[in-house]
Amino acid sequence: MEKKITISQLQEVAAQAHEQFKDNTDGKNADYIPYLANINPNLFGISICLLNGQVIEIGDTSYRFGIESVSKVHTAILVLRQYGAEKLLKMIGADATGLPFNSIIAILLENDHPSTPLVNAGAITACSMVEPIGDSGKKWDAIVSNITDLCGSAPQLIDELYKSESETNFNNRSIAWLLKNYNRIYDDPDMSLDLYTRQCSLGITAKQLSVAAATIANRGMNPVTQRQIFDPELSPKITSLISTVGFYERTGDWLYTSGIPAKTGVGGGVMGVLPGVMGISAFAPPLDESGNSVKAQLAIKYIMNKLGLNVFNGEGVAIE
Ligand code: GLN
Repeated sequence: MEKKITISQLQEVAAQAHEQFKDNTDGKNADYIPYLANINPNLFGISICLLNGQVIEIGDTSYRFGIESVSKVHTAILVLRQYGAEKLLKMIGADATGLPFNSIIAILLENDHPSTPLVNAGAITACSMVEPIGDSGKKWDAIVSNITDLCGSAPQLIDELYKSESETNFNNRSIAWLLKNYNRIYDDPDMSLDLYTRQCSLGITAKQLSVAAATIANRGMNPVTQRQIFDPELSPKITSLISTVGFYERTGDWLYTSGIPAKTGVGGGVMGVLPGVMGISAFAPPLDESGNSVKAQLAIKYIMNKLGLNVFNGEGVAIE
């Protein structure tokens, strides 16, 4: 069976979601990174990129916010591009930690067993793996150009965010050195941590994230630039990583209620991948206690449920 949805239906439901939740004041901006605490909490954007390259945008979709943990997906893709699926599994892993994104206990519990590139520890390991090993400048270029490939346009470093985060990332410094202790970092720990912090400080728009999500949903072919960014066989690997741990310790609840694998960041962005159908992104700074944007979650859930879309439905979807 194939479900048929029109583009105007999709537009209408996205607009309803925006209207319905724009005045919601639940949650609060991330405050452990000073820059993020001061972002306007009323910003709110929703963007959907279809696999024909068409983008639906509602609200603040051109505002550049901190990509934060959503960048973990992008750099996991870079590592998959450079090393392949098997090595990622062996050197980092693909398991949910069931614990908060910045958990140190997760490293101690799994010290003989790698975890996932989508929490801080695995993401710092992923940065350590980016080639060429030992060359911070070239590694950074590879990270940025991979994000540019996926989004179809370049991200821009938010210097103030980078500075703010570098000055306060004591927990992540511990993670980097603990990983070193367990031989789970493959380049200089301080350099790997700095690359991670810098990638989290890249400014990105909701529109760009929806294009990156659509590239994953479209088996590696960016639907806007029409360029094949990664091997189509990597696509289900990436979506499986996102499904397992995209919302950290709240991932099961998220998947159960929304029906879409998605990745969040403390900058307020959420990026969802509906394989073979679309990429969706929403952005709003106030977060729940697990660090996930309140309004972005509400908006994406509303759209998925209203249209009867669900990755586990087992039915094809045609958007025309
Ligand atoms: N840069 C942030 C951190 O490491 C990212 C966390 C997040 O978005 N969940 O703490």
